[in-house]
Amino acid sequence: TNIFHSLRSSAPLPPPSQPLSITDYTLYLLRSNPSFSPSTTPFLIDSATGHRLFYSDFIRQFQSLSAALVTKFPSLAKNQVALIVSPPSFHIPVLYFSLLSLGVTVSPVNPISTESELADLVRLSNPVIAFAISSVASKLPSSFPLGTIIIDSPQFLSMLQNPRSSFGFPQVKQSDTAGILYSSGTTGKIKGVELSHRNFIAITSASHQDKFAKDENAPHPVSLFPLPLFHVFGFFMLIRAASLGETLVFMERFDFVNMLKAVEKYRVTYMPVSPPLVVALAKSDVVPKYDLSSLLLIGCGGAPLGKEVAGSFMARFPHVEIVQGYGMTETGGGITGMIGPDECQRYGSAGRLSANVEAKIVDPETGEALSPMQQGELWLRGPMIMKGYVEDKEATGATLDSEGWLKTGDLCYFDSDGFLYVVDRLKELIKYKAYQVMMIVLPTFLFSKQHLLKRKTLQVAPAELERYLQSIPQVADAAVIPYPDEAAGQIPMAYVVRRDGSKIKEAEIMEIIAKQVSPYKKIRRVAFIKAIPKTAAGKILRKELVKHAAAASANK
Ligand code: AMP
Repeated sequence: TNIFHSLRSSAPLPPPSQPLSITDYTLYLLRSNPSFSPSTTPFLIDSATGHRLFYSDFIRQFQSLSAALVTKFPSLAKNQVALIVSPPSFHIPVLYFSLLSLGVTVSPVNPISTESELADLVRLSNPVIAFAISSVASKLPSSFPLGTIIIDSPQFLSMLQNPRSSFGFPQVKQSDTAGILYSSGTTGKIKGVELSHRNFIAITSASHQDKFAKDENAPHPVSLFPLPLFHVFGFFMLIRAASLGETLVFMERFDFVNMLKAVEKYRVTYMPVSPPLVVALAKSDVVPKYDLSSLLLIGCGGAPLGKEVAGSFMARFPHVEIVQGYGMTETGGGITGMIGPDECQRYGSAGRLSANVEAKIVDPETGEALSPMQQGELWLRGPMIMKGYVEDKEATGATLDSEGWLKTGDLCYFDSDGFLYVVDRLKELIKYKAYQVMMIVLPTFLFSKQHLLKRKTLQVAPAELERYLQSIPQVADAAVIPYPDEAAGQIPMAYVVRRDGSKIKEAEIMEIIAKQVSPYKKIRRVAFIKAIPKTAAGKILRKELVKHAAAASANK
């Protein structure tokens, strides 16, 4: 009945009733690799200082922290929430693994959140304790029952060196909540997504099936994360890297040129990235100054990556594969992917379903499950799908159905080879009322045919137009939003960032696009802007541009 099943071999999962935390599962996978040596393999390297933390020290530190926390806070219990507010540093993975091993729920947030945003998130997830770096701690409410621990303080450092590291730790059930991560909220209010240990075990296990076949001569994998660790993409990639014994190069503050330097210096082989970074790697003039020959693989997800951008990236980096994947906070990470050079060549696709995942493409109007090549809402089912949204039964009920299907809100289709294509978010489609010409043959005594104009609402996907815009050489970046229009309801409007030195005009841009798309998809308004507002994970904040456009038209 039109269910799409994963084409990968199924991924092994422990029996659901077996007590097991994602930390223990990660260590189990790590240790099942016979050639892995924890005392000689660095887990983390600080790109700025070259400082390294070996796996053996990492494990000792997080276990020591667990013991210290249990001693200091005897009332700290499983499924209580710990808020974490910090930029990436070595302490963050240590903290995540420690709290997860205790069954305490990890809830990381963007350190640049404002006071009122933090207050909203705190209201949602109700943390008993917070961990924050000193420079952001003052933004936090002071209401945590167990207080706030400053991560960059001697007190925290001493907890990593606690000599008593064996304790009667609580037994973590797979159904316990491992994380509350926040969805990007680009199309609605931000929601706290509750993910269990089982969810992370399932997605980690599935991602092991998605690995490229191991080449005996391949260099030791060294990754660099230009991704925030508080977003699901970075959170999950961190667990995955640890489970595979990889080395991670850390950047405390992201900076494009420093990233290039770090790739050169540490011979980075892999980077999980968001699409804007692929654009920068493909287009930026500074890129050729660095030796990036160690790069083998780029993993890209979180937002659509245009075929054209992927093409210009490949022209510059013919030796690098781009693996595309699709995922949501609600799925605990990426649930599609690509394996091997042939699959990687499906530019524009988000890859194939990972192990143990099922999907349907559902007609939003009739609820009918559709066939390959037909567009509809993507529904997903599998052991990695979230428990629900915290403190929001209504949203949970609207998103998860009684059979376990997650309604993603994304308009997608599968091709006949099982590759997923993401058109856009349903909520972000531009609704353009077009006049359609109908031919009516009137009775012959009138001797004429008549044209009748009928109005029909057609939907335009901003992501498609953004791809065309990004492929214009004089355009550095672009975003498309709906702009209110009396006759058409909404028209597509583009915000464009010109490349340095470019003087391309509004009309030229509209003309280039008009040549490539059907008339109803034409861009009918253009404005220039310095930078496109985006989330830390690379998603365009179209809501902000809509506000910007409304303010600009009100000021006229
Ligand atoms: P978040 O939960 O904040 O990570 O946002 C998840 C959303 O990101 C999905 O519902 C999609 O709209 C979008 N997304 C993720 N991966 C892709 C992809 N490969 N292509 C297009 N959109 C994507």
